[in-house]
Amino acid sequence: MSGIKRPIFTVQKHRASHVHYDFRLEIGGVLKSWAIPKGPSLDPSVKRLAVKVEDHDLDYANFEGVIEEGHYGSGPVLVWDTGWFEPLDANHDMESLAGMVHAGKVEVCLHGQCLRGGFTLVRMKDRPRQWLLIKQRDAEACPGREVVEEHDDSVLSGRTIKDLETAVEAGTLETYRCG
Ligand code: MN
Repeated sequence: MSGIKRPIFTVQKHRASHVHYDFRLEIGGVLKSWAIPKGPSLDPSVKRLAVKVEDHDLDYANFEGVIEEGHYGSGPVLVWDTGWFEPLDANHDMESLAGMVHAGKVEVCLHGQCLRGGFTLVRMKDRPRQWLLIKQRDAEACPGREVVEEHDDSVLSGRTIKDLETAVEAGTLETYRCG
């Protein structure tokens, strides 16, 4: 990995019709994306449904603000976690990540604030859009721990979904972009 720009991952908490967590990995110049209704877990015995959604542009990774009513996904979005990642298997390079997505199994090591260590994304049989996100058993695993309940604010700004809604109602919201 040395000398190579580290790819980013981001998890955006998004309250559209329902609260969910958009998990995104920088692969092939875009953000490969999965919507996780219950959010990621640090408990290796927990399998979280992750629905594959459309790729997003890289510059969306640090978007925080409110998507206007009438637009797809309208509602507040905050950056729940972000950092960099690498393929878990040192024999894999960044180029092989796109192949892993295509093959339906992606194993990465995340270097974030809330999420760290190995995670597996695996596509369910005969369900092209339905994947599972599972924490691997390693030093960063925490059985019984629900990290989405411990952290509900933005790692970039400290704002909560409620803060964003309040700011919109008060007319004081500026969309936040970083980097
Ligand atoms: Mn979303």
